Amino acid sequence: MADAPTVLPALPARLDVPEPVIEIVRTLEEAGHAAWCVGGALRDAVLRVPHADFDVATSAPPDQVRKLFRRTVPVGERFGTVGVLDRGGVLHEVTTFRHDVRTDGRHAEVEFGASLEEDLARRDFTINALAHHPLTHEWRDPFHGADDLARGIVRAVGEPADRIREDYLRLLRAIRFAARFDFAIDPSTWTAMRELAPGLGRLSAERVRDEWFKGLETARTLDLLVRLWHASGAAAVWLPELNPGPIPSSADTAPRDAVLLTAVLTNSPAAVLRRLKASNAEISRAEVLARVPAGPPPGDERAVRRWLSGAAAATDDALRAEQLRTGKPAGWLADVERIRERGDAVRRGDLAINGGDLLALGLTGPAVGRVLDRLLDRTLDDPALNRRDTLLALARELA
Ligand code: ATP
Ligand code: MG
Repeated sequence: MADAPTVLPALPARLDVPEPVIEIVRTLEEAGHAAWCVGGALRDAVLRVPHADFDVATSAPPDQVRKLFRRTVPVGERFGTVGVLDRGGVLHEVTTFRHDVRTDGRHAEVEFGASLEEDLARRDFTINALAHHPLTHEWRDPFHGADDLARGIVRAVGEPADRIREDYLRLLRAIRFAARFDFAIDPSTWTAMRELAPGLGRLSAERVRDEWFKGLETARTLDLLVRLWHASGAAAVWLPELNPGPIPSSADTAPRDAVLLTAVLTNSPAAVLRRLKASNAEISRAEVLARVPAGPPPGDERAVRRWLSGAAAATDDALRAEQLRTGKPAGWLADVERIRERGDAVRRGDLAINGGDLLALGLTGPAVGRVLDRLLDRTLDDPALNRRDTLLALARELA
């Protein structure tokens, strides 16, 4: 859901770090290694936004981390991340201090043996480059992330253009964080983003999709998210079908469903989802939704039953899409509710007779389907027909 930073605090003297994370830091330190809390949890704690996972960064190389804890799982060993399971079976990520030695805009080759300062320097934004020590309560903030959190600014660590060229995903991450917290993007970071956006094509579709979906799920204002995708030039590369907006602010408070939002905010959603390598289920959900007939006139129950019949499994998606588009409930929602409450037949399966009954009447093969469709058609106009004896009599006429 959208997060709402309202206070602009300095770094708090105390931080509520979960006990298992403190334990992990203690274990590493007692073995002679440095260990700090890092990453998004600190940013969110300063903004007083709940955040589940506190990442730990340590000078201990991955094999040492594995030896020090009873239960570990490989998470991203190539990048120096070991998952440590606490007593409750909860996984905590412990990552060795590292710096990037080579980058190609998509991946980084990392080298261990870095200092905390070097590790913070390879992070993307100043607001994500804080470190906190849960035993001494010290902070490290070499890039003044606290000031940017207080002012509400997304600013690259170091030279913005260099940092984006190392990993173009950072451009999309800047948009996501700005929309999530309603932050401004620092002008020189923004200039680099606009200049480099045409290079976004080198990212994999999967990483772009994850960013786009996360953005839709977490943006405080969807309108800002969409405006930043357009204004940066990111939409031109990956989402040319993205509508310009504006997006009604009521969409911000509706439950966030990335696939439905993609369907509402873009032309030809299925093409967009296919490009982003969404799952087949997600793509077909968008396709089915696109085939839903236009909304019926409110108050015309016959028309609404026909609409329900056509919308079928996409009915609820279609109603929610209408609300997202217009900012108010579908005009025919009350009709839908009444029809559903009464249990009027809107599809073949709702009819009081089935194919077996028609076969028993002596109908064969394709005639069964044809007659059922005719019966449904009549029943959509007049729900009172949906009785076994009435339908059987009608079927005999139609056969
Ligand atoms: P959230 O999980 O809420 O989206 P986060 O800040 O925790 O936000 P993660 O993707 O979990 O983001 O990454 C954890 C940390 O790793 C970030 O805070 C940042 O310091 C660093 N990081 C992540 N991705 C990148 C990247 N592409 N380039 C540089 N640093 C990164
Ligand atoms: Mg995270």
